[in-house]
Amino acid sequence: MPQGRPAIPMSLQRQLLVEAGHRCAIPTCRSTPVEFAHIRPYAQVRAHAFENLIALCPTCHTRFDRGDIDFRSMRQYKLNLGLLSGRYGPLELQALQWFADDTTRQEIGIPRGLDWAFGNLTRDGLAEVVDRPPTWDSVGDGSSGTVGLCLTARGHDAIRRVLKAEPIG
Ligand SMILES: [Zn+2]
Repeated sequence: MPQGRPAIPMSLQRQLLVEAGHRCAIPTCRSTPVEFAHIRPYAQVRAHAFENLIALCPTCHTRFDRGDIDFRSMRQYKLNLGLLSGRYGPLELQALQWFADDTTRQEIGIPRGLDWAFGNLTRDGLAEVVDRPPTWDSVGDGSSGTVGLCLTARGHDAIRRVLKAEPIG
């Protein structure tokens, strides 16, 4: 650490680690251990701000410092990370991951009445809940049945953009 530069406070380090899931923030890397990189160089900003810091593994950090990963890409990784970890709940993130793992997947069955857990995905237009006729699943067993959670075209596009570090929009 250069002389005169204060350490990154522990609480801020913890926020950054939680944001990135304690792994390198680059979605195609996700390695450990991680360290902290200033997206705009510390020499320019002279501060440790959450918005300007990102958790990276040493390899990605070095690649960023060398310019193999440029500033705009890194800013986009940070934005996408914030959007995903800040906005969507664990079930929503798992659903996105499930769709991202195999882009031919069309639908997840969820218990009717659990659609609230996917509220931000549906509000943002990334997914929609589609009703299913009672014959589609358990008829007459007293349960309230199942509905389908489908990615919209916008949702498919958002997953593609996150994986490629392009703006989500
Ligand atoms: Zn990495």
